[in-house]
Amino acid sequence: MLTNLQQQPADALLALIKLHNADPRTDKIDLGVGVYRTGQGDTPVFGAIKAAEKKLAETQESKAYLGPEGDMGFVEALMPYVFGKVDPTLGGRIEGMQTPGGTGSLRLALAMVKRAGVRRVLMGTPSWPNHAQICADLDLEMAGFNHATPDGTADMDALREVLRSAGEGDAILLHGCCHNPSGIDYENDEWDEIARLVAERKVLPLIDLAYQGLGLGMDEDAYGLRRVLVAVPEALVAYSCDKNFGLYRDRVGALYVMMGEEAQLAAAMSNGHALARANWSQPPDHGAAAVRLVLEDEALVREWLDELDTMRERIRQVRSRLAAAGKVGTLDLAPLGGQNGMFSILKLDKEQILALREKHGVYMAGSGRINVAGLTLGNIDTFVDALEEVTT
Ligand code: PMP
Repeated sequence: MLTNLQQQPADALLALIKLHNADPRTDKIDLGVGVYRTGQGDTPVFGAIKAAEKKLAETQESKAYLGPEGDMGFVEALMPYVFGKVDPTLGGRIEGMQTPGGTGSLRLALAMVKRAGVRRVLMGTPSWPNHAQICADLDLEMAGFNHATPDGTADMDALREVLRSAGEGDAILLHGCCHNPSGIDYENDEWDEIARLVAERKVLPLIDLAYQGLGLGMDEDAYGLRRVLVAVPEALVAYSCDKNFGLYRDRVGALYVMMGEEAQLAAAMSNGHALARANWSQPPDHGAAAVRLVLEDEALVREWLDELDTMRERIRQVRSRLAAAGKVGTLDLAPLGGQNGMFSILKLDKEQILALREKHGVYMAGSGRINVAGLTLGNIDTFVDALEEVTT
């Protein structure tokens, strides 16, 4: 029976990691994997998380089941950072549940919109590949629209066009900040327009916020999400703590649901809980409990936010250095300075990407996506020289 299963293509990024690991060159540069790296090339555990984990080990008295909603203390402690300190539940209309990472949250959110009768998911392309994979797995129809213009700004015309023909029964998946893979986010005035259009067309927004704090700042990175939420009656937010708390493998995320009225929340959330039960039953506890302990302790919150500031500043510093190189062969690196988060796309063809890998030991995804956090002040010049060589 199981021989009916067809060979699936290997995940391209995981294959790239293997190639990189097998490369003996000591000056190789890994721009493929989507994790933050320090100037020394490490992905360390946050100090605030280490302290919280220590506390957790000392004080946790039971590991008995919590339920499909996970650690609600974690879910609620995060809300002021996501939705704003003044009214984090928007008048009692938002409730959440813990999920295994942002991916688990997206899986539940998309399964919920399908159950609710949504027929199409509008999605800017390119996007994080798992968005399309989850939609395809759930048999949800996708309607792609172009995300970015060739000059490196968001393609608002394409967005306006897709929304013009959209209506009730459609959902739109939006990256809250630090667009993956392009780094091209909407400006605040563009978010104002998106909020108005989405409300006018009665399209259900699903906002993926996986990098809060890594773009322009915690509040700045939530501008679009907050703007959309005050404009519409219903919305879903898929949140990941895996980047902004450095918890990648611990799988920490949350799904938030906003309804038109507080009384409608119980029915909607009961679907989230039932779907979780059928998928993973309960989310893993450890990482979320550590985040909760950080958020419950003022000193640890300060330490966490300081660590996040350092990461963001380093990313911006690398971006400025790349942007300062300007025109490099056929590439213009200047727009990278104004883009946000860890990722940007370089317009390189397959041969150029291969030459970068084989001749220069520079590893990047086949799409030309680079993780700028893979660069250090010590190797940026080597990288720019390699780009120059393969593009001229
Ligand atoms: N959304 C986007 C845009 C992402 O880039 C990622 C992670 N690469 C996620 C969601 C999911 O993150 P997690 O690792 O928490 O599942």
